[in-house]
Amino acid sequence: MRFSRRMDGLPPYLFAEIERKVSEKRRQGVDVISLGIGDPDMPTPAHIVEEMQRQVADPANHQYPNNRGLDEFREGVATFYRNRFGVELDPETEVFPLLGAKEGIAHICMSFLDEGDVCLGADPGYPVYAGGPVLAGGTAVSMPLKPELGFQPNLAAIDVDILKRSKMLFVNYPNNPTGAVIEDDFFERLTDFGRKHDIAIIHDNAYSEITFNGYTAPSFLQAPGSKEVGIEFYSLSKTYNMTGWRIGAAVGNAEIIEALWRLKTNMDSGMFQALQRTAVTAMTGPQQCVKDMCDLYQRRRDLVVGTLREIGIDVASPKGTIYIWVPVPDGYTSVSFADMVLDKCAVVVPPGSGYGPGGEGFVRISLTAPDERIIEALERIKDNL
Ligand SMILES: *Cc1c(COP(=O)(O)O)cnc(C)c1O
Repeated sequence: MRFSRRMDGLPPYLFAEIERKVSEKRRQGVDVISLGIGDPDMPTPAHIVEEMQRQVADPANHQYPNNRGLDEFREGVATFYRNRFGVELDPETEVFPLLGAKEGIAHICMSFLDEGDVCLGADPGYPVYAGGPVLAGGTAVSMPLKPELGFQPNLAAIDVDILKRSKMLFVNYPNNPTGAVIEDDFFERLTDFGRKHDIAIIHDNAYSEITFNGYTAPSFLQAPGSKEVGIEFYSLSKTYNMTGWRIGAAVGNAEIIEALWRLKTNMDSGMFQALQRTAVTAMTGPQQCVKDMCDLYQRRRDLVVGTLREIGIDVASPKGTIYIWVPVPDGYTSVSFADMVLDKCAVVVPPGSGYGPGGEGFVRISLTAPDERIIEALERIKDNL
């Protein structure tokens, strides 16, 4: 077969080797514990599942949906943004359904980038910030996130020539993989930066609802003027344990939303209407389920952070997300520590370098395994250090 050059440009899939080792071990009967994937282990809340069951049975939902999304879906997202963030959105022009945030991240690159154009992306970061631009024929340039700057990119340090070629930028807070949150004026500074350099700001808001100890995460759209320079991707995946359902929304700048819509009319035929209607129930119905999930993750976070500190690993306790970003002990790299933990402890922790070169020196522990599996995994690591 003669595949396109853009396939060669795709970033290497660092987890392929880990997956191969895990299957090999499981075949040998080894009890492998995965703290690798960012996928909630708890089921979707019952009231959401029941609403979907009702909606699926309604023949009105069985035909092709409109790409633009149902009015009631766009209004539901706008209601959620007003209630939760105090952000006003015009459901007609500023809200658009996505088949998950990931799909939006990949596709939006196609509406911005031509050959030679740059997309700036947080590093470490969600791997699609690098893969999406490459698939679109553009160039991904990473912005390192350093602990000493609170895992915020140093906007002033970006090379002038790169800035001139940059048309878009991806960031994400509460942050995967570092767990960092925004407690200062970063979104305001980012808005100014986008306006000054004519760079579209794309904030990937997958974790705003998963926070701890009373911390409430802001939306990028709360920053004054942000709607003139960018959009936010909201996802129901992590908030409502709906990763398998594939639903999110793009919100914000009407011009960007319109471009994404035009692009996507050529790619998919919209989102299952039963799912759009169920999403409204999730976003505007009772939110106790979200509080309960935060309590669960907070308890697991304390368990992991407490045990790691006991064994001498100086780990920060995150205020949000479902991850602990763990510095590897002296003498290890990200990969050599992850390999040791897999080989000796049969525990999967992804190396930080899998999220970009800026992740070197860390591994990521995900809080989405049952408590007893997390405890067992930590015991094994403790015994081998
Ligand atoms: C999980 C995750 C996503 C994917 O969200 P979907 O809506 O399930 O596609 C996007 N961005 C980040 C940072 C994530 O962690």
